[in-house]
Formats: sequence, C-alpha cells, structure tokens
Amino acid sequence: MVVVMKERATEMQIDAVIARIVEMGMDVHRSSGATRTVLGVVGTGKVDPALIEILDGVHEVVRITAPYKLASRTFRPEDTVITLDDVRIGGDEVIVMAGPCSAETEEQVHATAAAVKRAGAKVLRGGAFKPRSSPYSFQGLGEEGLQLLRAAANAHHLKLISEVMDANQIELIGRYADIYQVGARNMQNFTLLRELGHTRKPVMIKRGLSATIEEWLMSAEYVLSGGNTDVILCERGIRTFETATRNTLDVSAIPVVKQLAHLPVIADPSHGTGRRDKVAAMARAAVAAGADGLIIEVHNDPDHALSDGAQSMFPSQFDRLMAELRIIAPAIGRSICLEPVTRRGWAR
Ligand code: PEP
Ligand code: MN
Repeated sequence: MVVVMKERATEMQIDAVIARIVEMGMDVHRSSGATRTVLGVVGTGKVDPALIEILDGVHEVVRITAPYKLASRTFRPEDTVITLDDVRIGGDEVIVMAGPCSAETEEQVHATAAAVKRAGAKVLRGGAFKPRSSPYSFQGLGEEGLQLLRAAANAHHLKLISEVMDANQIELIGRYADIYQVGARNMQNFTLLRELGHTRKPVMIKRGLSATIEEWLMSAEYVLSGGNTDVILCERGIRTFETATRNTLDVSAIPVVKQLAHLPVIADPSHGTGRRDKVAAMARAAVAAGADGLIIEVHNDPDHALSDGAQSMFPSQFDRLMAELRIIAPAIGRSICLEPVTRRGWAR
C-alpha cells in the first residue's frame, strides 16, 4: 500500500500518518519528491486503507497489486539517481562501466583501466571473487584483486564495481569497491540481499539466468526494504532455447522495467551475448532502448584472459563503440561522457 500525501501536507500531518501506520504494526518508507511526499507501507500486518485515507493531509491511498512496493513507480514516480561524487547513475548521462571480467595482474588491471578511462568509462568493473560454473576454473584473486582494482581506479579517477558472492564478503569488498555487484547466480541469495540492505553503498543486482522481471524486482525489494535506497538493476541476458549466443539479452526488459520501477537500469551486452563481435551491436541497442548505462568487459589482452576472454573487447573496439554511443545517446535525449577523450586507432 502506498499513501500519497497532499501537496501542501505539513510535516506534522506526515508524522501523524507515519505514527498511525507504525501503530498498526507496519513499516513506513518515506519518499519526499519535488511536490509530494509518498509513504510506502510494508510489512505483514493488515491495514484498513479507509482508516488512513481519512487522516489529515492524505491525498489518496493506493493499493499495489505488484508484490514489490518500494521499487515501484507508484511509490516513487521520479527516477532514482545514484550519486557517487561526480558520477550520477540514472540521470541524463548514460554511464559506462568497463574493465576486465576478473582482476588477474597489476599490469592487466592498470592497462585496461587506463584504456577504458581514455575512451570515456566512468566506472571500472572487475571481479576478485568469481562465480565460475566449474570449481576448477580461475576463482579470482580475492583481496589481492580488490587491491589491484582499487589502485587502478584511483590512478585513473574511476569508481569501482566488484562482485560480492557471499554475505561474509560484504565488509571486505566494501573497503575497496564503490558499488557492490550481485551476480546473476546470486540474484535470489536472500541472505546476501538482506545484508546488503543494511549497507549504505549502491548495489547492482544482475538479473538471474531464468528470472522473471517480477522476481528480479523482488530481489531489489529485499535491498530496498533493508533501508538501502541505492539499487541498480542490470539486464545481463537470460537463458532461452537459443544457442547461437551465450545468453539472450532481453532488450525489451529495459523499457518494461523503466516503466514499472524507478531504479536505474544497466545493460550487460558482454554476458548477454558471450561474443565480443556481438557486444557493440547490443550495447547500441540497449542505449537506444533507454538503458541508463552499460557494463562491458574489456581486456588489454583478451585472447589470454583467465575468464570470459571471448566476450571481452579489445580496447580499440571499446573506443569505437564509445564514439558510436556518443552519436546515439543525443538522439534519445541523453548524453554520454561529454569530457574530451583521447582516441586511438580503431584497427581491431
Ligand atoms: C561478471 O560480471 O563477470 C559475471 C560473472 O556476471 P553474471 O553474474 O551476469 O554472470
Ligand atoms: Mn565475466
């Protein structure tokens, strides 16, 4: 249930409504927009909407049929914009996160960070704890990887996103990363999501391999209901009957989610296709479809990468893609990295 207050509702009226709802055994999440305050009512108790509707300052009480409330546009009609210093995720600018699948060596992390920064990326991506399908594959460098990634991010003035696989890694990863990434395989790790709800760093939740949009939004709800309002959603491809690509990037999920929820939506065309020669086309499509950003795997030497080499772009391919996106974004009223960038050859 969502309580929409009148435009001129006073703080005293708002406080009185909150107190009444809490008295009825429910939790209240307040969202104060430019013109109105909206109260999200969550919990397991029962509240008679009529008893709230008659309180002073209340405009209307809206019952929400969707099981997610705090993520929904009814609760917060405006887009959520997540601010990390000068990086605004969910605003007019399309934010590009790029970097290797995994941190491997100091040289690899630094060379890749320098390349993505030069091309206009704002956030460095890189895993130190890797959710690999096989226990025999490279599992990541752990804390050493986080140290390498943080040093490279600082050196190149980038923010850092890195994957957290387990609740017991939250504290460690939080010491290095600016954004927690929840991987597709962990989208329904509810213990992890609950714990991330108690942190105050942005959390990017990748869509599960076979998760519906509603299930994905319910995962966001877990983090939001813990009090962390900075949730980002990432469409990374779902499992379908098609085998020509590693996954099927569900581009249509972008406008669907943008309508249902107020959270920023990022697209991952790297995991969405699994092939570097298909990444640019799907990145262009995702931006045209209204994605607030992209997360793209780039490697200074992808043919020798320890994970996801086939889908990792060469820096020159990434450069070229960024130049193309700079033409597409304004066509739909967005911008993308307006600072001057250094462009190198586009040979490969
Ligand atoms: C990754 O970003 O490297 C990753 C493992 O992604 P996903 O969880 O989408 O498979
Ligand atoms: Mn990867």
